[in-house]
Amino acid sequence: MTTNGGFEPVFCTIVPPHVLDTLARAEDPALAGPARRTLERDALERTRRRLTTVIGAPALAAPAGAPADRPERTIHDARHKQELPGRKVRGEGAKPGRDATVNRAYAGLGATFDLFLKAYGRNSINGEGLPLKATVHFGEDYNNAFWNGEQMVFGDGDGEIFLDFTIPVDVIGHELAHGVTQYTANLTYFGQSGALNEHFSDVFGALIKQYTLGQTAAEADWLIGAGLLAPRVTGTALRSMKEPGSAYDDDVLGKDPQPATMDDYVRTGRDNGGVHINSGIPNHAFYLAANALGGHAWERAGRIWFDVLTGGELGSEAGFTDFATLTVANARASFGDGDELQAVTKAWEQVGVRTV
Ligand SMILES: [Zn+2]
Repeated sequence: MTTNGGFEPVFCTIVPPHVLDTLARAEDPALAGPARRTLERDALERTRRRLTTVIGAPALAAPAGAPADRPERTIHDARHKQELPGRKVRGEGAKPGRDATVNRAYAGLGATFDLFLKAYGRNSINGEGLPLKATVHFGEDYNNAFWNGEQMVFGDGDGEIFLDFTIPVDVIGHELAHGVTQYTANLTYFGQSGALNEHFSDVFGALIKQYTLGQTAAEADWLIGAGLLAPRVTGTALRSMKEPGSAYDDDVLGKDPQPATMDDYVRTGRDNGGVHINSGIPNHAFYLAANALGGHAWERAGRIWFDVLTGGELGSEAGFTDFATLTVANARASFGDGDELQAVTKAWEQVGVRTV
């Protein structure tokens, strides 16, 4: 039971618990220590979220008369403590300061706001101008970033495995996109509906990066978290939409467990039933559709995905087939019997997801 209008905020950390579990078992205490502390901190935050959800979180109202054409950003500095939100260091419209982390967080919130408004006409993550708040320099060696239903939080990383979590703009976009899902289809964070929840965050995270850089589908790297792994790690990112399962293969971090097709679907109780694992399958379908269409991925493939996410027909318990079927119907309704319909239909076929 929730008392905040039925919305159950997802507590998604960009680095999933199964990755930190592997790190926490490392023999080197310099690697295991930060991972253990990050897991403990995430468990505390998860409990805190559950309590505020049950008790009823304060309503996050948009300021009256907020203009729809610009975000309302506030960046705070936790100064390596774990109290939120910390000291305010930059408000909307203020000039960049000396702290590159603060500047990246501010720019990343703005890039996310821009994609949703300019490409899809959505005013902030709730559609009603929700102010965007972020805290940087959270904790000591904190190896994660998360959206807690109210704000973004970024760690600096331990410098051994992870670097500063404000570096990849798609990580910022991924977390804020969980807010968009929370306010729309509100997909249950378990099993296939949970993997779809993760998938939407990866799709819009990648699109925010591509929109910011002005990249076409062919120019994009289709990675989530590029630049986040420290130089000693054998890997390029946290996930790859182009080649799921290929993002990292490291002696400490283990191997990227994502499947690309239903043939390799992972049945597991870990990671909320594999939400960060099986999301590789719809992720790859999106990449295939966007790549077949060419040009800017947010314009056609992204439009279809956004419209299905926010259109009201996608149920909170939807599975891959439910979603795939809706994207095919949307492609036909929005673009007729053309390239879009063909690209979307073929993409789902290639990853082995049935449409009805
Ligand atoms: Zn997520």
